[in-house]
Amino acid sequence: MSKKVLVLGEVRDHTLRNVSFETIAAGKIAAEGGEIVAVLVGDSVKDSAEAMIHYGADRVITVENEKLKDYTPDGYSQALLAVIDQEKPEGIIFGHTALGKDLSPKLAAKLNTGLISDATYVEEAGGNIVFTRPIYSGKAFEKKIITDGILFATIRPNNIPPLEKDESRTGDVTSLDVDVKDLRTIVKEVIRKATEGVDLAEAKIIVAGGRGVKSSEGFEPLKQLADVLGAAVGASRGACDADYCDYSLQIGQTGKVVTPDLYIACGISGAIQHLAGMSNSKVIVAINKDPEANIFKVADYGIVGDLFAVVPLLAEEFKKMQVHS
Ligand code: FAD
Repeated sequence: MSKKVLVLGEVRDHTLRNVSFETIAAGKIAAEGGEIVAVLVGDSVKDSAEAMIHYGADRVITVENEKLKDYTPDGYSQALLAVIDQEKPEGIIFGHTALGKDLSPKLAAKLNTGLISDATYVEEAGGNIVFTRPIYSGKAFEKKIITDGILFATIRPNNIPPLEKDESRTGDVTSLDVDVKDLRTIVKEVIRKATEGVDLAEAKIIVAGGRGVKSSEGFEPLKQLADVLGAAVGASRGACDADYCDYSLQIGQTGKVVTPDLYIACGISGAIQHLAGMSNSKVIVAINKDPEANIFKVADYGIVGDLFAVVPLLAEEFKKMQVHS
């Protein structure tokens, strides 16, 4: 049965996060030929509407208000509830991002509907829209359907490929005025962590360091390899606890969950709590001087050796490949 599906685009610093396009692709499957309505919320988001249409949205609704400049659960839920009230969608898809994780349960409760969170795959099967999601820290997967009410799900970034961009696509862009009021929290100031380069959550390649890097200077060769590959730098909790890097880089059960195309683990032992955050990466390369290290059990390619010798060599070789390509 074809459905109208609402997808949330996330705009940060006037740029759409990649996961916005992935929600459209997931929405297309859930809509079964129905309409995809993209929603953009913020203080100045209209410029991003066209890209949502190029990636497959049929229409875009913008909710602009200076009180929506920064995310607050009250402000965004008022904006989204107004759009939902106007559009009466049968499906809603958000990214499983910090914003999506916070906002979706609040909205699902208000809408009195179920919610499937952190889906990595969406398909139509046996007359249902089936969402696959990891459980037990990624050691198993479950398939879930929503049996009643709005089909509401969040999708893990980097798992459902966006549709091909088509710049000839057109669609209506309309705005909805929402009287945002009674905010119980207000963002007074945003203090950004000094993380440079590629966003870890959306990175296609991650070079991660563990306690084996031995110091904050020890991260330098990893940063150089990351620069050559256009990758983000991540870390184990061991490295963060030892103060070699900032906690914003931590990957794992109590850090970020990532699913890049390529994960290069350098001097990381492969504790279960670390694997929980990265074991679903498409290709895993481990560099460790201990051949018995647990990380080799999940690695597709293993290099037994000293990371301070191996990582610069890799950077050098990849650089040569770029020069020749
Ligand atoms: P280690 O286990 O000390 O491993 C260092 C590795 O480096 C070793 O395998 C060693 O052989 C190798 N090595 C050393 N020198 C070199 C060299 N020169 N070249 C190559 N290899 C070298 N951890 C996380 O990562 N993320 C989490 O989110 C997380 N959450 C946790 C939550 C809880 C409740 C608990 C209890 C723990 C959590 N941990 C988490 C911690 C986890 O259990 C491990 O302690 C941590 O992952 C270990 O980090 P590591 O692999 O960097 O360090």
